[in-house]
Amino acid sequence: MRILVTGGAGYIGSHTVAELVAHGHEVTVVDNLRQGHREALRPFPSVAFHELSLQDESQMVELMRSRGIEAVVHFAASSLVGESVQKPLAYYRNNLCGTEHLLSAMVAAKVDRIVFSSTAAVYGEPSDIPILESSQKQPTNPYGETKLGIERMLHWSSAAYGVRSASLRYFNAAGAHPSVPIGEDHNPETHLIPLVLQAALGQREAISVFGTDYGTADGTCIRDYIHVCDLATAHRLALEWLETASGAHAFNLGNGSGFSVKQVIDASRKVTGRSIAVREVERRAGDPAVLVASPAMAEQTLGWRRDYTNLEAILETAWRWHESHPHGYSESLS
Ligand code: UDP
Repeated sequence: MRILVTGGAGYIGSHTVAELVAHGHEVTVVDNLRQGHREALRPFPSVAFHELSLQDESQMVELMRSRGIEAVVHFAASSLVGESVQKPLAYYRNNLCGTEHLLSAMVAAKVDRIVFSSTAAVYGEPSDIPILESSQKQPTNPYGETKLGIERMLHWSSAAYGVRSASLRYFNAAGAHPSVPIGEDHNPETHLIPLVLQAALGQREAISVFGTDYGTADGTCIRDYIHVCDLATAHRLALEWLETASGAHAFNLGNGSGFSVKQVIDASRKVTGRSIAVREVERRAGDPAVLVASPAMAEQTLGWRRDYTNLEAILETAWRWHESHPHGYSESLS
């Protein structure tokens, strides 16, 4: 299949590119490199890379036509929850308007399949665990709101233009590719696992634990950590499934099991063999106590299976990446 990946130089994007290339698909990447890394595509010489913004709609149409694109995987977005609260309009512009341009380009170029990078943040504070796709959706920040808005855009675009879509709602993406030198490199880094591993490397004095008074067994928040390569597999399966499915669909992508912040830190001590100092601080605004997915729909409909169901196995791949790339991709530039 000839596939356009927007945001393909980012963390989940580059791992999905690896999965698609490994399965013989022809991949074109569009990325404006504001958060993505050109280096993340270096292991894939067959990939055609275009530094382009989604807002350049006429260039996007031209690219889709000239490359004979059959389907799109859409990652390009701003994705920092805290920043989205500070700059909501920037999130609406980049995420919602960017996707509007992308969909308009797809309609013009007659590309009718899209897999969209959504998030568990569409649910907000869940009323029931595990979270089902049909659970109430009430985002608690502009980031989740823009992702839910895009899901609605896809819903209406299905009826009006025949666009077929799968929105994949990620829980907590983690880990790194086991055999290709790509991994997680955000600036600024806000996610628990890379921050814990930076503390293990001695790059941070301690890891701050945001809140120890939640109604969980050890008082810290529980999340469903899912390996980035398992996420990548789900994107490939969704693309293949959309060859015959019509309409707009959404799937949770998580392991269906939760680990607390303290459990993640303990497991990281075990995997790294290093000491990791902890600082207990106030809760972070907007963090739900527990987020755990039901992955049943993706399993049943897409045939999705995970290779990494164990937290330590996920952490081991992340640790290998951070140990070998302590400064992320900037290492490989020198
Ligand atoms: N967390 C923490 N310290 C940090 C970063 C995160 O205690 O320095 C907690 C955060 O409150 C949440 C969990 O770790 O409960 C996962 O946070 P992350 O930002 O990785 O992902 P999120 O769940 O927000 O998507």
